[in-house]
Amino acid sequence: MEQRQFGSTKHEVAVIGQGTWQIEGRDRGGAVSAWRRGLDLGMTHIDTAEMYGTAEEVVAEAIAGRRDEVFLVSKVLPQNASRSRTIAACEQSLARLKTDRLDSYLLHWRGQHPLEETIATFDQLQREGKILSWGVSNFDVPDLEAAWKIADKGRLACNQVLYHLSERAIEHGVLSWCEKHGVAVVAYSPFGHGRFPGPRTTGGSVLQKIAAAHNATARQVTLRFLVRRPLLFAIPKASSPEHSAENAGSGELHLTEAELAQIDEAFPLGPRPRELPML
Ligand code: NAP
Repeated sequence: MEQRQFGSTKHEVAVIGQGTWQIEGRDRGGAVSAWRRGLDLGMTHIDTAEMYGTAEEVVAEAIAGRRDEVFLVSKVLPQNASRSRTIAACEQSLARLKTDRLDSYLLHWRGQHPLEETIATFDQLQREGKILSWGVSNFDVPDLEAAWKIADKGRLACNQVLYHLSERAIEHGVLSWCEKHGVAVVAYSPFGHGRFPGPRTTGGSVLQKIAAAHNATARQVTLRFLVRRPLLFAIPKASSPEHSAENAGSGELHLTEAELAQIDEAFPLGPRPRELPML
């Protein structure tokens, strides 16, 4: 599995990681085996959040005895992003995850609490060793600018954003802003949150053709396209070991410039939306 420097941090992180949203009511053992298989295959970046119900507890099971292998990310909800509640939320996440530290802690989206307060609290948590870096999620360029002005240089590690073949809005400005400032961009819902282009669609057939040339799958080609630039990472969610193995298989795939151009053409960028889309 290819690893890359995670933005301005010193961490080398797997380009393809693992999401953990919406496992409520599903087979918990299945998720644990899926994520463990993912870890075995190098998908050591695990993304979770206090919002994801019992997911943090299931992650704790999956990473038991393997904490040091994992780049573990969780998120605080915006309504909890005051000083005291961020500290409490972080400590509760650590307890559910059965760990003493998060590799990165993110503000899930921008809310009403002043960013100055949230960022100062992230800095405090980092000084205390409870988090090793911090970032944001669902931040458009004006939000990123605001965070950049408040934070000391190089402190903002990442922006986790909606990015898949049919939703490339970050390419209108967020991606280039992050590249200019050395901030990692983590693509969430890289398979369109379950709406992946079928083989009979025009775009799907392009993916199939490229996949066949590499003895790969359309999903592997998709993940590779989404991490085609040096600061990009992706975190697909899988709940079976087979799906995890397929996703991990993209970690070493190399697409040619011509293939990237074909995908780019098959899934055009689209007009700039008024607001950055999010799920
Ligand atoms: P996604 O990863 O785009 O898609 C998940 C769906 O794809 C599931 O139905 C999964 O099925 C299926 N899938 C995965 N691998 C597959 C494979 N190899 N073959 C066939 N189907 C496959 O959607 P997502 O869960 O929305 O996004 C990924 C992660 O991003 C989340 O879990 C979460 O950690 C994060 N996220 C963050 C935010 C945010 O606001 N920051 C928002 C949304 C998501 P199975 O489950 O059956 O394997």
